[in-house]
Amino acid sequence: MNMMPVFAQNNSDQLPMPEVVNPAENWNAPSDAIILFNGKSLDHFESIEGGPAQWTVEGNHFTVNPGTGSIHTREPFGDCQLHIEWRIPTEDANKEGQKSGNSGIYMMGKYEVQVLNSNSNVTYADGQAGAIYKQHPPLVNASREPGEWQVYDIIFTAPTYTPNGIEKEPGYLTVFHNGVLVQNHSDIKGPTTAYNKNLPENAIEGPIMLQDHSNKVSYRNIWIRKL
Ligand code: MG
Repeated sequence: MNMMPVFAQNNSDQLPMPEVVNPAENWNAPSDAIILFNGKSLDHFESIEGGPAQWTVEGNHFTVNPGTGSIHTREPFGDCQLHIEWRIPTEDANKEGQKSGNSGIYMMGKYEVQVLNSNSNVTYADGQAGAIYKQHPPLVNASREPGEWQVYDIIFTAPTYTPNGIEKEPGYLTVFHNGVLVQNHSDIKGPTTAYNKNLPENAIEGPIMLQDHSNKVSYRNIWIRKL
């Protein structure tokens, strides 16, 4: 790594210099990321009911095994930058509404960024791909076709609470869908539908959950940077 001075000369405010991080090509993880899925094993995940994740690993990706339940990371995360790639199965192309390629990425197990086929399928605005489910529609629809890989880059700020458990500041989500901004610092209005109710209230971090909604949605190249 390129070692830089902690304080630069002529920096009148004495602000610490941003750490040097090596970016990567082709959406690969930068140097300081935690690799949550490297194409080989689900070691970083478990069933939300406990026990190993029962989803199917093949090739460089893994796929929802319908009926085995949602999975989540073993490690909890609060503020973070998450990169995750996903694919709607072609068999879902002609399914309708919320039945077409439904899954979801729940930050802290509570706040869903919706995964859905919103290319050859129409549903309510705040239930389509890129929505914070039932809270904020995406700014635009940047969806690709079923069978094509898509990307979310998510910047998450966890909600904060007073010592008495009163929400001090809401959580926020910024989301890029296939490189297009679809959520711009959107405020989170509490847990979204079907969140993991076993997690403690007022937590400042929690596991990232991937939803089993009975569709064979696939995921690959998942990495995260704590902020
Ligand atoms: Mg969903």
